[in-house]
Amino acid sequence: LLFSAPVRAAILAVGSELLSTDRLDTNSLRITELLERHGVELVRKSVVGDDVEAITAEIRACVAAAELVVVGGGLGPTADDVTREACAAALDRELAEEPEVWALIEKRFAALGRTPSVNNRRQARVLAGATVLANAQGSAPGQRIDLGEERALFLLPGVPYELDALLVAELEPWVAARSTGAGRERRTLKTAARPESEVDALLEPVYAEFGREALTVLAGAGEVRVCFWATGEREARGRRLEAIATAVRRALGDSIFGEGDEATLEETVAHALGERRLSLATAESCTGGLLAERLTRVPGASAWFPGGVVTYSNREKQRLLGIDAELLARFGAVSQPVAEAMAQAVRREFGVDFGIAISGVAGPDGGTAEKPVGTVHVALAGPGEEVADRRVQLPGDRGRIRWLATQVALELLRRRLLKITREGAA
Ligand code: AMP
Ligand code: MG
Repeated sequence: LLFSAPVRAAILAVGSELLSTDRLDTNSLRITELLERHGVELVRKSVVGDDVEAITAEIRACVAAAELVVVGGGLGPTADDVTREACAAALDRELAEEPEVWALIEKRFAALGRTPSVNNRRQARVLAGATVLANAQGSAPGQRIDLGEERALFLLPGVPYELDALLVAELEPWVAARSTGAGRERRTLKTAARPESEVDALLEPVYAEFGREALTVLAGAGEVRVCFWATGEREARGRRLEAIATAVRRALGDSIFGEGDEATLEETVAHALGERRLSLATAESCTGGLLAERLTRVPGASAWFPGGVVTYSNREKQRLLGIDAELLARFGAVSQPVAEAMAQAVRREFGVDFGIAISGVAGPDGGTAEKPVGTVHVALAGPGEEVADRRVQLPGDRGRIRWLATQVALELLRRRLLKITREGAA
């Protein structure tokens, strides 16, 4: 034969927790995305518990069904992690401790001021003929076992971030070298604090131009994602994705805050603040520091975020922020005047460009007819003493209300920074 068949793939997720309600197999979605991008057909996907015989049988079935087999999970040091043993049995290969791998594990532990335990020795076991795939994020390395010119089995760690690193460093290059270049690719643009139905309605012209099936709208956690796909050769695919992205941007305008499934509002805000050399401080009540927590997830936050306060009680609102007792008595803590006063006070106290405040009723108790559970006030005090306000009625339970409140605050700030950037450019 002068041509080879396109690579077919099988994915196996190992772990008894994946068969229960404890954890969902999300690794296979990452792997599938990679495979689709390279036009590799996924022909089998399975989940098996931590059982040597079951894993062995499943690996045999995967190898029979596909040229590329990706096995994830069960490489830990505990007795229930038996994927290595099962793999050796399925492929009829020896499994032996590799001194170099053991040395790396010892070194890794030493760097953390610890010594590996006896159990960790199992993680140094390598299949005969396997290529060890360095895992900088964890102790168990991955392994690639070549089963022929165009056939391989990848044994990868189950911890999602460890797996991700190995997908990029090891699996993708292997697949790319064997793919025809034609595949399916996905792009995502994200919007926040806008209902799904509204986003969908705005996308009408994009649907008209590219077809309903070209894109989809997915809502969740105060964000709406617009996802779209293209298939074909890399360049043609890229051009089509770019054309759809341009149309989506035209339809949604400033509502789009980022690109990619992982994009977050705090990152966008951080970037805008850093770029303009502006700073921010937070005053939180019902969110108890969640906003500050989100802001400090971004590396380098100290450049623009000196800190914030959690003033949960009225007493602390008075003591730490100097909020007038009379104001509190007259309007209540969850009110526009109090949120505004908190934002202005924190801005002044921290000597920053922006002060942002959140005060609301997160529930489940404490709601009234006038201020039902989910009532949240957000205020943003900015340069020039001007204050922007939002009163929102948020849905869901306590956790959701608190999260959504931080989304509203970040979105308010993002819009404000966008305006400043525009005015600066004009
Ligand atoms: P293991 O390699 O089996 O020790 O797994 C390490 C951690 O990764 C455990 O917390 C697993 O629950 C998790 N994990 C393993 N496989 C998957 C998977 N397919 N999707 C998501 N998490 C996983
Ligand atoms: Mg496991």
